Amino acid sequence: MVYGPGLLFVVSGPSGAGKDTLVDALRARMARLRYSVSATTRAPRPGERHGEHYFFLTNEEFDRSLATDGFLEWFEYNGNRYGTPRDFVERTLSEGYDLIMKPEVHGALAIKNTFPDAVLIFLLPDRFSSLRERLLARRTESNEEIARRLEIAHQEVRHIRSFDYLVINAEDKLDAAVTDLHTILHAERFRIHRFSDDSLRTVEQS
Ligand code: 5GP
Repeated sequence: MVYGPGLLFVVSGPSGAGKDTLVDALRARMARLRYSVSATTRAPRPGERHGEHYFFLTNEEFDRSLATDGFLEWFEYNGNRYGTPRDFVERTLSEGYDLIMKPEVHGALAIKNTFPDAVLIFLLPDRFSSLRERLLARRTESNEEIARRLEIAHQEVRHIRSFDYLVINAEDKLDAAVTDLHTILHAERFRIHRFSDDSLRTVEQS
């Protein structure tokens, strides 16, 4: 059975919902799953590495990439720009690998415009107040920055109905959320429209 090009999974949702932790845990379970590293003009947080967590670019470098159509989408979030590098995504999917990325909500919707077949997954905590608690606990943003991220979170949730799936990342239940996400990725593989007529015919004729 020929599976065709890889599938594109987009995990989005408010800052503090746990996208990074969840996607890291998922990747540990799915060795073949590729991850799209974004570019950003924000400064690295302690422990973040260039090329692994983000490509950390200067404003000029980001502009240069924009000028050469190097991003599939980009968005200014809280004073910094973030973008999805085009080449890696296109190459990885055409090589048949499944790919996951985690942009904010506008980026997710822009990706769906370009790749209508992309699977959009919204991630939320079980209660909104834990967004603030998680952002406070990680101690990487100032109080003003946290307040702005929470405002943005309320705006982001308004777009939830444009997504295909909702995963709840409840406090102390990371494993359950990873399993839910894993199940979605697994099931998407078997949607009937993913099978070409040719591959179905081959089965019938063999
Ligand atoms: P952070 O500064 O916390 O790493 O990221 C801030 C927000 O930018 C998060 O919601 C994150 O998902 C989003 N983000 C990260 N990479 C991209 C990207 O390539 N495109 C877009 N549109 N958003 C991104």
